[in-house]
Amino acid sequence: MVGARPVRAPRGNRLTCRGWPQEAAFRMLHNNLDPEVAERPDDLVVYGGTGRAARSWAAFDAMCRTLTTLAGDETMLVQSGQPVGVFRTHEWAPRVLIANSNLVPDWANWDEFRRLEAAGLTMYGQMTAGSWIYIGTQGILQGTYECFAEIARRRFGGTLAGTITLTAGVGGMGGAQPLAITMNGGVALCIDVDRGRLERRLATRYLDEIAGSLDDAVARCTAARDGRQARSVGVVGNAAVLVPRLLELDFPADVVTDQTPAHDPLSYVPADLTPEATAALARDDPDELVRRARASMAAHCQAMVGFLDRGSEVFDYGNSLRVEAQLGGFDRAFDYPGFLPAYIRPLFCEGKGPFRWVALSGDPADIAATDRAVLAELPDDEPLARWIRLAGARVDFQGLPARICWLGYGERHRLGLRFNEMVRTGEVSAPIVIGRDHLDSGSVASPYRETEAMADGSDAIADWPLLNALVNTACGATWVSIHHGGGVGIGRSIHAGMVCVADGTALAAEKLERVLTADPGTGVIRHADAGYDRAVEVAGERRVRLPMREGPP
Ligand code: NAD
Repeated sequence: MVGARPVRAPRGNRLTCRGWPQEAAFRMLHNNLDPEVAERPDDLVVYGGTGRAARSWAAFDAMCRTLTTLAGDETMLVQSGQPVGVFRTHEWAPRVLIANSNLVPDWANWDEFRRLEAAGLTMYGQMTAGSWIYIGTQGILQGTYECFAEIARRRFGGTLAGTITLTAGVGGMGGAQPLAITMNGGVALCIDVDRGRLERRLATRYLDEIAGSLDDAVARCTAARDGRQARSVGVVGNAAVLVPRLLELDFPADVVTDQTPAHDPLSYVPADLTPEATAALARDDPDELVRRARASMAAHCQAMVGFLDRGSEVFDYGNSLRVEAQLGGFDRAFDYPGFLPAYIRPLFCEGKGPFRWVALSGDPADIAATDRAVLAELPDDEPLARWIRLAGARVDFQGLPARICWLGYGERHRLGLRFNEMVRTGEVSAPIVIGRDHLDSGSVASPYRETEAMADGSDAIADWPLLNALVNTACGATWVSIHHGGGVGIGRSIHAGMVCVADGTALAAEKLERVLTADPGTGVIRHADAGYDRAVEVAGERRVRLPMREGPP
């Protein structure tokens, strides 16, 4: 049997599969594991601790084999990264249905998950890893950029110029932070325990420089801040050591957050271990590693609360650091808020969320053409235009060329139809896939992140993502997935993904219009149901039906 090897999505117009929908899944599965894209491709890990695209290399091969023979009216079923069946459905049905990492609630804890994973029965799908729509660090860049822009608007007069943000973790997702901060004009100090990860961000221009020591990093950051220069500085070290040290040094951090893989205590490197020793302990004595990681996370989080007490803007960046720190014995972990209720929820009320697309041709010119189409289609949205221009100039593609922006209800299907038309007329050289991640308004139940502190207390209600997946399936998405765990860990979230192909056909146009309306629509109805006035208003303005608010005929 063939094991780990570099894989890369086919490019161009020649089909490996029997139709573009199947081909799209085939290419995106490969693309997720492209060494340029994935953080640890040999282990099938795409990003986010151990977020995998396939359970094993044998499962990867079986999925590829199946996709190449799959008919246009058949559907492949994938259970946590392994293909388990093919059924005749119909051409409106998804070509692939995926369920990742799901466990019955009473069994939904890391210990049980690890036992099943070790037995080869499941895998951690994260969000876009196991749903085959990861586009490299750019994927999270725009959300991170929006989040820091919102902080700048609320606290610093609209720009981060003259401010310093302290954070840690520059992995697949966290690596977006330095660029998002400099795009907002600020200075970023980014701690990572693994020099290789910092170097990877440097090579892809997400990070500007790596300092030789903590003192050197502090000096570089304060000099850049004083000169109101946008600058990102990396430093090698453990956040559980350096964040408390910076607090002692009275480091002038205006904003403090973190994106180490705290959701998974077997991925967070404890204060006294190297990444290699952490991996060895994860194998040999996971309970001991969990204990040490939680103690370190408690120290890390305590220092963040120390910065909060000094007046810094401190927020949790969706990685469960607060929960793990609390489990590690620190009782003020929840003194600072999660980023969702703090900055993003008003956008979710408008069904606003991630809209990402990938040029299956592999040709960057296709993304340039779609960028122009976005600007032409939504000419009055200045922040969107600024993002598209900055992304075009600053983002290096990883794997197949791709783009992301955040769009609301009523906007997404317009662009979907426009892209489909561009494929039909040959303005782009091959089909485009359109999907989203799961930092989303209607497809996620996650009480420590997307649904933290909902107005009606419905944080843990997980019916919404399931309805989202069902309606996207009914509307004809090309592949749909239901996940458990994601960015916050086992037992803490249920979420759903969707991807749709624009292959230029009339059928694709019909599907795109429905999926890209219903998908953000579930965000509007979810927030209207929770009592957010803005969501009710948006539903009224844009004619989203809310049956419980409709009067008798
Ligand atoms: P990743 O596994 O790719 O990278 C984690 C990075 O943290 C690595 O570079 C690692 O070396 C570093 N690290 C680990 N322990 C450390 C420590 N003690 N000190 C300093 N550095 C340490 O993970 P990722 O994809 O970047 O995701 C990071 C976290 O963010 C995860 O918990 C993920 O679930 C969460 N996440 C957040 C969002 C969001 O929207 N905010 C989105 C997706 C994921």
